[in-house]
Amino acid sequence: EIKTPKDVLDLMKRESVEVVDLRFMDFPGLWQHFSVPAHEIDEETFTEGLGFDGSSIRGWQAINESDMLVKPVADSAFIDPFFQHKTLVMVCNICDPITGEDYPKDPRNIARKTVSYLQASGIADTVFIGPEAEFFIFDDVRFDQNEHEGYYHLNSIEGRWNTGRIENPNLAYKPRYKEGYFPVPPTDSLQDIRSEMMLVMERIGIPIEAQHHEVATGGQCEIDMRFAPLVEMADNVLKYKYIIKNTAKKYNRTVTFMPKPLFNDNGSGMHVHMSFWKSGKNLFAGDGYAGLSQEAMWAIGGILKHAPALLAFTNPTTNSYKRLVPGFEAPVNLAYSSRNRSASVRIPMYSSSEKAKRFEFRCPDPSSNPYLAFSAMCMAAIDGIANKIDPGSPLDKDIYDLPPEELAMVPKTPGSLRAALEALEADHEFLLKGDVFTQDVVDTWIDYKMEHEVKALDLRPHPWEFALYYDI
Ligand code: GLN
Ligand code: MG
Ligand code: MG
Ligand code: MG
Repeated sequence: EIKTPKDVLDLMKRESVEVVDLRFMDFPGLWQHFSVPAHEIDEETFTEGLGFDGSSIRGWQAINESDMLVKPVADSAFIDPFFQHKTLVMVCNICDPITGEDYPKDPRNIARKTVSYLQASGIADTVFIGPEAEFFIFDDVRFDQNEHEGYYHLNSIEGRWNTGRIENPNLAYKPRYKEGYFPVPPTDSLQDIRSEMMLVMERIGIPIEAQHHEVATGGQCEIDMRFAPLVEMADNVLKYKYIIKNTAKKYNRTVTFMPKPLFNDNGSGMHVHMSFWKSGKNLFAGDGYAGLSQEAMWAIGGILKHAPALLAFTNPTTNSYKRLVPGFEAPVNLAYSSRNRSASVRIPMYSSSEKAKRFEFRCPDPSSNPYLAFSAMCMAAIDGIANKIDPGSPLDKDIYDLPPEELAMVPKTPGSLRAALEALEADHEFLLKGDVFTQDVVDTWIDYKMEHEVKALDLRPHPWEFALYYDI
C-alpha cells in the first residue's frame, strides 16, 4: 500500500516509472492534468509543489493572479493502466504560491474542509460515502454538433442520438424496453467490457462490490465501489470515470455520464450512501425507524430540508432535470422510506448488521463534481444533526401510487437547474459554516452555471422546437 512520499518514490523505482502525471479537479468537475519526467519528482515535491498557470481553468483565477501550485497526494498514487510510457498518476491539492494557502475554489480543498468541520463539530470523525454511478456505453455516437448554430442531427428530433447501434441494428438480442436489469448474454453484450473496467479498478486499488447491466436498453451499466471516507471516495469517482471512459475507448465505444441521454428511457443516477462514524462506531445505527439512530433521522431531516439547494451541487446540469421526472426510478418527491425506491431518501434493508446501517440519497447524478456533491450532502446532514431537524414521518406507500391529494402534499425536487440555483441562492448558510464553502465559491458556482449552462441552452433553438413549430 502506498501511503508516504517515500512509498511513492520506491514504487517509481520498482516499476521503472518514466512519467509522472499530475491531476486535479476543475470547478465544474472534469479532471485536468499535466506531466513531468520522473526525475522531476522527489520528496520535496510533496511539500513544495509544482507550478502551473491556473488562468484557463474553468471557474478559477483571473489572468492577473493565475500562478498556482499543485501538491501531489502520496496515497492517491497509481500506475496509469492506459499509457504506452510507464506513468504514475497522482491526485493533487491546489495552493497559492504567494500565501502558501490552500486554494478556496479547489473542490478537493472544500471536501477536506468538510471533513475537518465534521470533526471540529464533535459529531463524528469519519463520513463514509458509497456512490452508485450509472453510465451508458454507446457503440459510436455520431451527432453533427455545430456549436455555433446549436443544431444537432435530425434523428435527435426523436430525442435519440443517432448511434451506431441504431444505424446498424441487431435486434435479435437487444434488451427489451426497461428490461436491461439484467438478463445474461447474449442479451447483455457488455459483460467483458464491464469486467475489464472492474478488474482495472481493483488493480489500481479501488475495491469493487459488483458490476451489472442497468435497466435502460441503450447499454446502461453500473459498477459499485466499496464505501470509503469522503475525500478518498471523491478521488475514486474520478478514477472510476477515467477507467470507464478509457476502457470503452479501447473497444471503439464511447461512454456518457450525462444523466438523461435517451428520451423516454431510464436516466443515470448516482445514488449516494452515507454514514457518520465516531471512534469506530456507526452513529447511524440505532433502534428507531428502519434500525436508524436519532442522529440519522436528523441527518435525513437536514438533507430533505436543504434538498432544493443541495441539488444545485448534486444535480448540477440542465440535463439533470430531464432525469428527475416520474416513471423512470428517479426520485421527484422529497421524502424518506425504507420500503420503496420512489422516495428520494431510502434506508436499505439488505443487512441487519450495525456496520451496514446507512441511508441512500437517490437524487444525485454522475454529472456532479463528487467533491462538491458529497461535501454539500455532508454539510446538510451536519446541519440536520446540529439543529435536530425532524424529517417528519416516512412515506411507506409507493409514492407513484398515492392519491393525487396526498401526493400534492409531498414537496418536490426543483424542476430545472435554474430553479435549483435559485434555491441555492436563497439557502446556503449551512454550506458556509466553518468556511467550508465560501461565499465566493457559492456565488461563482451560481454565476458559472447560469451563464455557461442555463442561459447558453436557453439561447439555442432546440431540435424538438422544429418538430413543434417548424410548420406554424
Ligand atoms: N437509473 C435509476 C435512477 O435514475 C436508478 C435505477 C436503480 O438503480 N434502481 O436513479
Ligand atoms: Mg445499484
Ligand atoms: Mg442502479
Ligand atoms: Mg441504489
